[in-house]
Amino acid sequence: MDGPAVKRVVIAGGGTAGWLAAAALSRHLGPLLDITLVESDEIGTVGVGESTIPTARTFHKLLGIDERAFMRATQASFKLGIAFENWAREGDRYFHSFGQIGNSTWMGDFHHLWLEAKRQGFGGDLGDYCFELQAGEAGRFATSDKGDINYAYHLDATAYARFLRGLTEAAGTKRVEGKIAEVRQDPESGFIQALVLESGEAVEGDLFIDCTGFRGLLIEQALKTGFEDWSHWLLTDSALALQTASVEPARPYTRAIAHKAGWQWRIPLQHRVGNGFVYCRDHMSDDEARALLMTQIEGEVLTEPRVLRFRAGRRLKSWNRNCISLGLSSGFIEPLESTSIHLIMIGVTRLIQMFPFGGINDALADRFNDLSNRELEGIRDFIILHYHLTERDDSDFWRRCRDMDVPDSLKQRIALFRDNAIAYQAPDELFRIDSWVQVMLGQRLEPKAYHHLGQLIEPDRARRALDNLRGSIATAVAKMPSHQDFLDRYCAV
Ligand SMILES: Cc1cc2nc3c(=O)[nH]c(=O)nc-3n(C[C@H](O)[C@H](O)[C@H](O)COP(=O)(O)OP(=O)(O)OC[C@H]3O[C@@H](n4cnc5c(N)ncnc54)[C@H](O)[C@@H]3O)c2cc1C
Repeated sequence: MDGPAVKRVVIAGGGTAGWLAAAALSRHLGPLLDITLVESDEIGTVGVGESTIPTARTFHKLLGIDERAFMRATQASFKLGIAFENWAREGDRYFHSFGQIGNSTWMGDFHHLWLEAKRQGFGGDLGDYCFELQAGEAGRFATSDKGDINYAYHLDATAYARFLRGLTEAAGTKRVEGKIAEVRQDPESGFIQALVLESGEAVEGDLFIDCTGFRGLLIEQALKTGFEDWSHWLLTDSALALQTASVEPARPYTRAIAHKAGWQWRIPLQHRVGNGFVYCRDHMSDDEARALLMTQIEGEVLTEPRVLRFRAGRRLKSWNRNCISLGLSSGFIEPLESTSIHLIMIGVTRLIQMFPFGGINDALADRFNDLSNRELEGIRDFIILHYHLTERDDSDFWRRCRDMDVPDSLKQRIALFRDNAIAYQAPDELFRIDSWVQVMLGQRLEPKAYHHLGQLIEPDRARRALDNLRGSIATAVAKMPSHQDFLDRYCAV
């Protein structure tokens, strides 16, 4: 697999993936490339994808995006984490925050100290030691120039693609409107030569980025790359999405509320709330899901519920020949931890770092695919964890999740935490130790043992240190404005 030097980049699709790719490539490699994006207004975009993780901020900085302008344009609110309700047991609630929990030492992470304090009868909740978690629960928020709060955004997906398009067209990327009718390939190498539109126009290129959504027009329909199915671990296959009017001040977190055969999201924006229900059709019909969702929403319904179908898994290669898939065309892990937009951002960042200026070759594509796969598998395991570590026994769905055979990589992590309270973040993995700890404890995985570093500290000293830490977080949170007040001021024109 060796192609000619790459100069002409063609992006197929203008959803979040297409415009993010176009924005990043044009900003960073624009002078070296000719970039064209092809999209069809008639086909439209998936129209969901409204909760992000903090890496979005880093990516926006790389694009030189002004935060206030972005937030105004996308009606965004701030996000400090996700509140999980009814997951391990009905009535349970825990918060997976983006913050750091306590102060870890080289010998062991903070939760080992906390577990020892708990054994000795003090220390409160682990979440007391996390600033972002406390601010989130209190409905408070403020940014500062010191950058000492870790946050992400809730945003309007349609407005986001429009905002990115505005940036990108201003930077010189060419947009072609039209339906792709044919993907023309070199008969010998299989490399894509051009996208032929219904109008007959051919858009030629050296490198093609498939951002055509679930249909994977280039990577799958043309190149037959193949798909690794993960639906035996991630059972949900459908979602209903609808929008409602806000009935309360915007909370600075996403809600993920588990139900009999899936879970419901609530994503508060400035002007409305995004709602959805992710479910498994083996265990719940569309009609049942719709009826359930309608009883669980609050506020005036602004849009009809829309059904979306998906299958968990990944394309066998994200990069195949001269085609790179980004976004839904590259595979899908359901939105429980809001990771898809992140995967687009990291994918295009990787492409910029590994851009095939000298021609496409196997070594480059293999490395790209290897990195993408490792990251995706870490996310896959993290999502399965939420379902598998459940004690719910109220439906076949939850029993199936609890009893299923999970990937060996996840089995090993669960055993390590259960027997030793050790969690880790492997190289190229997204989720930090604090994320694994919050979800494992939140899902009621009680460690049998932990590191005894806490016993090296005299109990009164340990108690004072923990009290001080909790107290300073509580004091800082009490001084913050409410999220809604901050949002109103921050986004005022
Ligand atoms: C239920 C659900 C909830 C989600 N929630 C989240 C979330 O909270 N957070 C998150 O990070 N991600 C979430 N995602 C994922 C997120 O929606 C996607 O990663 C993101 O929107 C990117 O989509 P895309 O651009 O790949 O595809 P799409 O939005 O589907 O865009 C495809 C583009 O290709 C074009 N196209 C297709 N065929 C043709 C053709 N023949 N000719 C011309 N153009 C064509 C379309 O017009 C469109 O412009 C969610 C996904 C689902 C299904």
